[in-house]
Order: sequence, then C-alpha cells, then structure tokens
Amino acid sequence: MADGSVSAPIISLSGAALRENVRSWKRLTRAGVRAVVKADGYGFGLERIVRELDGVADGFVVSDLNEFERLRSLSSAPAATLYDGGPEYVCRVADLGGIVNIARFDSLAALARRSNASEVTARVGLRLAAGWSAIDIDDAKEYAHLLSRSGMRVELWTHLSNPATEAEDRELFARFVALFRENGVEVAGEDVESTFPAARGGVWGGSIRIGVGLFGSGTPGTGNERLTCAIEVRATVLDRIFSDGTLRAGYGPDALPCGSQVSVLRCGYSDGFPRVTRPYRSLLSVGMQYSILRDAVAGDECQLLGPDDDLDELAAAAYVLPHQIVTGLGLASQRQACFAYNSGCDIAR
Ligand SMILES: *Cc1c(COP(=O)(O)O)cnc(C)c1O
Repeated sequence: MADGSVSAPIISLSGAALRENVRSWKRLTRAGVRAVVKADGYGFGLERIVRELDGVADGFVVSDLNEFERLRSLSSAPAATLYDGGPEYVCRVADLGGIVNIARFDSLAALARRSNASEVTARVGLRLAAGWSAIDIDDAKEYAHLLSRSGMRVELWTHLSNPATEAEDRELFARFVALFRENGVEVAGEDVESTFPAARGGVWGGSIRIGVGLFGSGTPGTGNERLTCAIEVRATVLDRIFSDGTLRAGYGPDALPCGSQVSVLRCGYSDGFPRVTRPYRSLLSVGMQYSILRDAVAGDECQLLGPDDDLDELAAAAYVLPHQIVTGLGLASQRQACFAYNSGCDIAR
C-alpha cells in the first residue's frame, strides 16, 4: 500500500457452506438440526448466520432474551433460549413465541399461571455441569407435576460436554426422562447432542443442536459425509525465503532443510487466527502477525483457510478447541467490517 501498511487478512464466511453443512448433519444423523447461534452467532453476528440458515435449519438456539429478540426480527422459525432469567424474563420469551428454557421453579410457576400456558413450549434440561441453565435430577418430579397440570408442551434436553462420562450421563438422562413420564408429562421432544457427540454417532432423539459443526467442525467418524469449512481467510504474501539449512520456520527447534523454501504471510493470531506451533498441512507456524507456509506460493495473496480445510485438525495443531478458532475469526471479521465502515462502527449484518 502507498501508505506503507500491509493489508490485514480478509476473513469471509460462506453461506452456501453453512447451508450445506446443515444438510450434511441432517443426512448423517437423520435428526432435525437446530442451529446454535448463541454468543452472537459464534462471533460472526447472529443476524448474519440466521439470514443464511432460515428455512434450512429446523430451528435455532440462542443464549438469552436479547438474542431471541434479534432473531425474531428476522425469522419466525422455532427458536429456544438457553438462559432462565426469572419469571418476567421467561414470560417475555413466551410472549414472543419462543421455546422457553426453564431452570428455576419460580419461572415455571409464572408460566404455568398464564391463561394460555397450554400454547407454550417449555424446555427443561438435566444439569451435568456447573454453568448451564438446567436442573438437578432430584428436582425433576416437582417440575413434572406442575408441567403436567399446566398443559404446556415439554421438551427435555441435556448437554454432553465430557466424553469420559458420556455413557453414564446418557443413563442419567434416561432416568430424567422416565421421571417426567412417570409423573404425567407427555414428552414432546428430547435433544441431547451437540456437534461432537453427534459426530460420534448414535443420536438420542429427534433433534440435535449444532453450533461449531455449522462451520465445518465435527468431521463424522462414520460414513463418507464430508463437512465444508465455511470460513475463508486470505492473506497477503510478504516474502519467500530460502533455507540455508539453519533457518527455523517457527517455534520449534528444527531447522528447515537446506534449499527448502517458505512463504511469509501477513496473518497472525492478532488477526483472530489461532497461534500454531506444530504443522497443520503446509502451515508451519502462526505468530502474532505472520504465518509461515511450506513452499513458495505463487501470487500476491494466498488462502490460509478455505473449504477444503479441517477445523478440527487445525485446532489440534494449535492446541485449542475449534470453537475458539471460530469465535476468534468471527470477532475479527466483525472488527474488520467495523474498520471498513470507519464511521460509528456500523457493522455489516
Ligand atoms: C453451545 C451449545 C451447543 C452447541 O455446541 P457445539 O459444540 O458448538 O455444537 C449445544 N447445546 C448447548 C446447550 C450449548 O450450550
């Protein structure tokens, strides 16, 4: 650039890939897919993801009332909240036609008192770890009694976040569901799997909740269904360097073989890309502002991440979760849009 600066990498999101991934998950699991667009659409902007997936996903999952209101301004698809902020809060979600997650008894009581309670769909989750809006199995009976009297439509769910305890967690959920049934609740839906458990196969109920898998993570263990990385990162090629046999590519101790070549790209972890210290395919390392690629790539620009990439492999090379890659690049893409508009931070959505 004439001002001496080098353009930052360009991060883009493919709507077609997001949609294709939803279809892949449906084929793979033969279940309905609720797209999880919490945390502002995994950093990419809730509105952006909802626009791409409305009519393709069977529904959505959002964090809270604020996200639910934003979603409702764009889509009338079935949508569930995760957080229970108390009686007024859940009633507001119900007023807007949301599937209301209940984790407090006073919230349930408030919903049950409403004259149109039978038109509401409520969700109750089994808590397996701290931090979720869900209930303990010991409280299931009390919730079941009030739910069955209220006439509300009831969905039950849990979240398997620890592979080591998955078998026993599933057993506990089976007991949770049984308790609701034994206490008069006609269970209208059960959903258990997020991306990783769904990828391992053996889906529990009629629907799954997919977040990071929308972006291409969660390569299924079985079959030949392939997900597409929906995020693309393009970076400027700054330099091509020959090794004299002593040059190191990045953080490791090993020198590049004499005569080998690397390319230096203007993209680093300050741009939302994960820091990479062991090779992922031809990507040798990623530092704060620069990435090192094996070989001399042609042209002024190069794709660092694209449809053929595997977010899980990249995440393993960077010692992070694929979720961190998605949210990191998502936030960076919004910051970029923000800079581009340069006037009052009018983020393109
Ligand atoms: C975030 C979340 C998901 C989605 O998880 P992914 O691993 O991104 O698919 C599903 N269910 C609940 C309850 C969540 O909080």
